Amino acid sequence: MSFFEVYNPVFRSYVLGNAPVKQLASGFAWVEGPVWFGDAGCLLFSDIPNNKVLRWSPGGAGVSTFRSPSNFSNGHARDRQGRLISCEHGTRRVTRTELDGSITVIADRFEGKRLNSPNDVIVKSDGTIWFSDPHYGIMTDYEGARAEQELPCNVYRTDPQTGRIEAVVTDVLGPNGLAFSPNEDRLYLADTGRMFGDDPTHIRAFDCSSSGVLRGGDVLHSIAPGMADGLRVDTDGNIWSSAADGVHCISPEGELLGKILVPETVSNLCFGGRARHQLFITASTSLYAVSLNRQGARLL
Ligand code: MG
Repeated sequence: MSFFEVYNPVFRSYVLGNAPVKQLASGFAWVEGPVWFGDAGCLLFSDIPNNKVLRWSPGGAGVSTFRSPSNFSNGHARDRQGRLISCEHGTRRVTRTELDGSITVIADRFEGKRLNSPNDVIVKSDGTIWFSDPHYGIMTDYEGARAEQELPCNVYRTDPQTGRIEAVVTDVLGPNGLAFSPNEDRLYLADTGRMFGDDPTHIRAFDCSSSGVLRGGDVLHSIAPGMADGLRVDTDGNIWSSAADGVHCISPEGELLGKILVPETVSNLCFGGRARHQLFITASTSLYAVSLNRQGARLL
C-alpha cells in the first residue's frame, strides 16, 4: 500500500518511494505541538490530556519526559534565540523557557481579561510572537480545566520586548495552527470552527506587511476529511496541513497537491532532522515521521 496520494504530478518529486511513514512511539492520549531542537538532536511534543511535554530522540533512545506537569501545554515554537515558547491550556498563558530553565510569562491577559487557552504559536523574524487563543482548552476538563470564557477566540501578536499585545484576527471561530510564508509576506491561519458544530474548517491566507499589519484573510483551502489544525510551510511556500487522513500538501494558490497518509487523525506537524527534510507528525495516540524531498521553511 502506498503511503501517499498524488493530486498534482509535482507532488511525486516531494515524496520518496522508499521512505515510508514510520511510527516512532505510541500509547499517548492526544499528542500535539511538535517542535524540533536541532542543537539538542531531539523533538519535543505535548501529550495534552496526560499533562506532559515529551522528548523523542533518534537512535533508539525513544521517548522520555521533558516536563510534567506541563500545565496542559499544547503548541510550541522556538524564538529567535532558540528558547522554547509554549501555549499552556491549564494556566491560560503563553510562556518562554529561559536558558536557565526559569519560566517567563509572555501573555496571559488581553485588555484585563484572561486568555482562553492558547493553542499554537509562531515567532516572526522580528521577534514578535503570534498565537491563537480558541476556547477548546476551557470547554471541558479533558485538555485543561473547564472555565468561563472571558474573551472571543482571537489571534494575537505580542512583542516580548515591550509586552504589548494586540488582537490581529478577530473574525474567526476557532483559530488554531499558524504559519508564515517563507518571506513572511503571508500569514496562514487554520480555523477549526467551534468543534461541536457544523462549522467549516479551512485555512485562510492574510497578506502581512513587514511591520506585521494583516490584510485580506480569504479562505485559501477547505480541509476534508477532518479539520485544519497544525500547519507548516516548506521552502517553496507549500503548506503542509493536518487532516483526518494524514498530512495534506497545498500549494500557495490553494491547490491540493498530494497527501501523506497517516493511520491516525493528525493534529500537528513540524519539519526537522539533519536537513529539515523530515516531517514529524503528531497524530492522536502516536508520533510518526517521514523523510521527504522537501525542506521546512526555517529552522525556528
Ligand atoms: Mg492546534
